[in-house]
Amino acid sequence: MDRTVRLSLVTPPDDAAALLETIQQWTSVFNAICAYGVAHRIRNGVTLHHRLYRMLKAQHPALRSDLHIQARVKAAEALKSAFTRRRHGLPVSCPRSTLCPPRYNCHTFAIDWDARTVRLSTTRGRRTIPFHLPAYAARYAKRPVSTADLVYRGGRFSLHVVVELPAPETVPSDDVLGVDIGEAQPAVTSRNQFLGQRFWKAIEGRYFRLRRALQRAGTKSARRHLRRIRHRQQRFRRDCDHVLSKQIVASVEAGAVIAVERLTGIRSRARKRKGRQNRRFHGWSFAQLRRFIAYKAEERGCTVAEVDPRHTSQRCSRCGYTARANRRLRALFRCRACGFTLHADLNAARNIAAAYRAGPGRSETGGLPVNQPDVALAAAAAGSCKPSPLGDGR
Ligand SMILES: [Zn+2]
Repeated sequence: MDRTVRLSLVTPPDDAAALLETIQQWTSVFNAICAYGVAHRIRNGVTLHHRLYRMLKAQHPALRSDLHIQARVKAAEALKSAFTRRRHGLPVSCPRSTLCPPRYNCHTFAIDWDARTVRLSTTRGRRTIPFHLPAYAARYAKRPVSTADLVYRGGRFSLHVVVELPAPETVPSDDVLGVDIGEAQPAVTSRNQFLGQRFWKAIEGRYFRLRRALQRAGTKSARRHLRRIRHRQQRFRRDCDHVLSKQIVASVEAGAVIAVERLTGIRSRARKRKGRQNRRFHGWSFAQLRRFIAYKAEERGCTVAEVDPRHTSQRCSRCGYTARANRRLRALFRCRACGFTLHADLNAARNIAAAYRAGPGRSETGGLPVNQPDVALAAAAAGSCKPSPLGDGR
């Protein structure tokens, strides 16, 4: 399995100029190929190479051949997706970039983990550049590397290196964990765990109000402030998602299945609720959280399975009775048929786990074959150790 490690490069002005020039030339090659491809309706990489390589190499002789080739590969990908959009009748403009990150491979870069340096081909020859290895990425060091993208953002250069990790040798288990994401609590699992922090929502609300006020002001300085806020908010969400995904994956044994709702369901379910609460969901990166869960799960040999999100919040996890009236209060589930009472998100998490165990979706999503336990019995047994319904004391 592949992982991307972000190395921040330490660049004296001379190296910085060489790297920036490389990115600019690479981008202009990329843009030229895209423009030609759109004008002549060509997306085939080999054809583009034969028609353009000599001309572009003559225009940018300092750019290494392999970087020319990688620019063409990336441009062909961009053209392919643009043409696919056009075929589907979607609006298409010519792919164009202001600073496209050059793709390096074994011909154009080498990494020395011990010396903490990379050697990169630039338009001004090969440069040896020191880098910082973030603490979290120490375990990725010394792994074989495949490609790397040179990114220039906010005046700094970083190298996004793809490293190969060995797949964990784990035996699939029949352990299934249902996870309900983001209503009263950031995440609740079918094993009575309440993960994440409830104050995240208050912080998110503050960002929301601040952004709304700045958008209304609409002045130049407000826009600048808004940009800064946006980045800070993205970092905050990323941190939250890292914490949450780590906790979720750490709470199962290796080889287990983590069942979550299919993504499309979350927002439509949230949309039905009105007012203040909506805010937590719109624009929050569920996709990012899912990505984090997926890659952390993979490292533990776990599988992530999706289940149909319909009715997970309205069905009784003990008797299966499904009605909207079961969910009068936001945080509290009370079954109108059997009187079962539980924290609403916990009830949903148990339903998600049960839906995975019972569901036909198991094979579709590539989940593992598990023995099917008696769901009703298991749920009843789990329900007997009732936690406080409103989940205080967390
Ligand atoms: Zn019931």
